Amino acid sequence: METTKYALSGKKIWVAGHRGMVGAALMRRLEKENCTLLCATQDELDLRRQDQVEGWIKKNKPDCIFLAAAKVGGIWANNTYPAAFLYDNLMMEANIIHAAYINKVEKLLFLGSSCIYPRMAAQPMKEEALLSGPLEQTNEWYALAKIAGIKMCQAYRRQYGCNFIAAMPTNLFGAGDNYDPEGGHVVASLIQKAHKAKQSGAPSMELWGTGSPLREFLYVDDLADALVFLMENYDGEPHINVGSGLEYTILQLAKTIAKTVGFEGDFLFDDSKPDGTPRKLMDSSRMHAMGWRAPTSLEDGLKVAYQWFLDHKAS
Ligand code: GDP
Repeated sequence: METTKYALSGKKIWVAGHRGMVGAALMRRLEKENCTLLCATQDELDLRRQDQVEGWIKKNKPDCIFLAAAKVGGIWANNTYPAAFLYDNLMMEANIIHAAYINKVEKLLFLGSSCIYPRMAAQPMKEEALLSGPLEQTNEWYALAKIAGIKMCQAYRRQYGCNFIAAMPTNLFGAGDNYDPEGGHVVASLIQKAHKAKQSGAPSMELWGTGSPLREFLYVDDLADALVFLMENYDGEPHINVGSGLEYTILQLAKTIAKTVGFEGDFLFDDSKPDGTPRKLMDSSRMHAMGWRAPTSLEDGLKVAYQWFLDHKAS
């Protein structure tokens, strides 16, 4: 596989989406590098507005960009706000990628998601599974926008020679997650529910669906490390999967979270809520072949995530 060293030392780096869970983890990770970090809040810069994005990049002149800005949400939010997931994500990525090209940004890393793969893709999912079958319906809007972002990176590389790369993280969790019980992903939602149930002395807590879907979970600070690794070492056209290889049923996850939080009750299943994709495990062998592996266990990552929840969200 093609590799080129792109040292971040001395670079001006823009983390687009620095207040999101991934962006904040990237900021923490990049503080260890000798680089200048740029960021802009949503009030300063609406990434959905082409003129604002082009003006900001022209003025601030980043050498490289981590495109971690996205409208994200769990299974319920994706299913409920299809237009917002499609429009916001398409606009943000199109504006940033095109402006990076016009302004001769040296390198850009775009972040996708494991939901870009077909619902029934062979497991573990290899990068080649992209566009080989129908998408999972609960998040196809988000997935389509992310697929467009991957293809933009490839198209700008082919037509204009831009060094734009793309990484596909598996399901993420960690500090700074979205703890909204309806809009968030499963780890944050279950931490919140287990904490509440423990506090109120409830005999049980509720899980959506059947508890049987399989998901792989990656601690967000591990992802940030992987993204820095890719920015420095990877220069190819194909997108790269970033997973942990750690796979659990939702019920196993719930039990591990209950243990972390100290909730000792039972689980009830709300089968009016969807299960989504039956299994979502990434094949991260390309990443492994380059020499990177996720170092953090689910248990250790959950401890940090729960502590962050206690410090910032618990009442
Ligand atoms: P997905 O990976 O795109 O399906 O997104 P999620 O992280 O939102 O959901 C993962 C799985 O966890 C799905 O099977 C959900 O039905 C299940 N799940 C169980 N309880 C919850 C919950 O309280 N919140 C969320 N978001 N998912 C839950």
